[in-house]
Amino acid sequence: MFFDRPESGELAVLVHLELSSIDSPDDPREFEELALSAGADPVAFIFGQRATPDPRTFVGRGKLEEIQRTVNEHGAQLVIFDHNLSPSQERNVERELKCRVLDRTGLILDIFAQRARTHEGKLQVELAQLRHMSTRLVRGWTHLERQKGGIGLRGPGETQLETDRRLLRARIDSIEKKLEKVRRQRAQGRRARSRAEVATVSLVGYTNAGKSTLFNRLSDAEVYVRDQLFATLDPTMRRVELPNVGAMILADTVGFVSHLPHRLVEAFRATLEEAASATLLLHVVDAAAEDRLHLMEEVQAVLEEIDAAELPQLVVYNKIDLLQDMAPRIDRDDQGVPRAVWLSAASGAGCELLVEAIAERLGEQMVGGELVLAPQHARLRAQLFEINAVQREEYRENGDCVLQLLLPRSDLQRLLAPYKESAAGPQWSPVES
Ligand code: GDP
Repeated sequence: MFFDRPESGELAVLVHLELSSIDSPDDPREFEELALSAGADPVAFIFGQRATPDPRTFVGRGKLEEIQRTVNEHGAQLVIFDHNLSPSQERNVERELKCRVLDRTGLILDIFAQRARTHEGKLQVELAQLRHMSTRLVRGWTHLERQKGGIGLRGPGETQLETDRRLLRARIDSIEKKLEKVRRQRAQGRRARSRAEVATVSLVGYTNAGKSTLFNRLSDAEVYVRDQLFATLDPTMRRVELPNVGAMILADTVGFVSHLPHRLVEAFRATLEEAASATLLLHVVDAAAEDRLHLMEEVQAVLEEIDAAELPQLVVYNKIDLLQDMAPRIDRDDQGVPRAVWLSAASGAGCELLVEAIAERLGEQMVGGELVLAPQHARLRAQLFEINAVQREEYRENGDCVLQLLLPRSDLQRLLAPYKESAAGPQWSPVES
């Protein structure tokens, strides 16, 4: 559309270099999965090593020739780099190979574009794509300008590019406005939920860890589950009733992936913000993945990025059916607080332990019981209604008010503290569970 590029197809040659100079993705298998996720059909994988990328074509001359030969041999229509290429590198390589080139950001954006389900997700993807495109367009334009001799020589090509730039800008502005509106609505929803004291439990984790599967298990909801990275791009929320917990919101979030370019983290910040406001994070881990510690660190890094690293976290080691002799269990810390649950979301084994652990972690602050108030405690009664702690209210003949409460333990302690010393204070009797 904006500049002529070779047509793209599905037969793809993958290129992964080990670079000593920059921190680059180190897992070619993940790269291959990303490519498969995007719908590509990898026909060859080319590896290489370099100290630093070539400024003009990223790979060196010899490697470029090897890629060219491989492309010809397989009739490939696409070359995907496991790295972020500069716009000019991408164009140079494309020109030399006469074959469509996609870099890592482009690949991830493509996957996001296919997976986005909600209105907001689609807008976010389009915005990120337009921004990615606009950096390329600007460089392309200056490059052409130089070729044509610049000032005073405005050919039709440049005029077209200027028009394209203006259209692109207008589209970006319009999407930004729409996103701003969606963000405000989302923030309102969050405020309403926090006023209602409804806990939000957000699933986070590396792609393919099993978040969607677990989400379905816990909510019986039909979400889009596929054996592909990024099956979940948009946070999907469900209201769930769990035994001993009551109502809570379960939120599924975007799958994390290593070396997600910083700009993309920015683009999807609003989606991730949902996780940042959670009451409890369920960090879902593929327990059978060899590099699970590394993946957990990657997830932790993204959580830090969105200021969610300090939130209460419960680790869910999923896929224990793939491990030998592993029975479902809860790991507790020295205080007896559940820290991790081992289960299989696919078979359902251990999911009841997870519900138990969630109930304990949320309920570690949630308590239920009966509170008897005398008429002079009207203010306390009002406060309890305000925080939605009252489940039932009855009056005795003597004028005492009996409240059935369910509330965070910390709230109960705070509200009852002023009456602690007084013999005529409210009478609290917890419900034994
Ligand atoms: P997400 O990207 O984290 O949302 O992961 P998904 O829920 O889409 O799951 C990724 C893949 O792992 C799918 O093929 C699931 O069927 C599979 N999976 C999920 N849970 C389990 C499990 O407990 N055991 C096994 N063996 N596979 C699972």
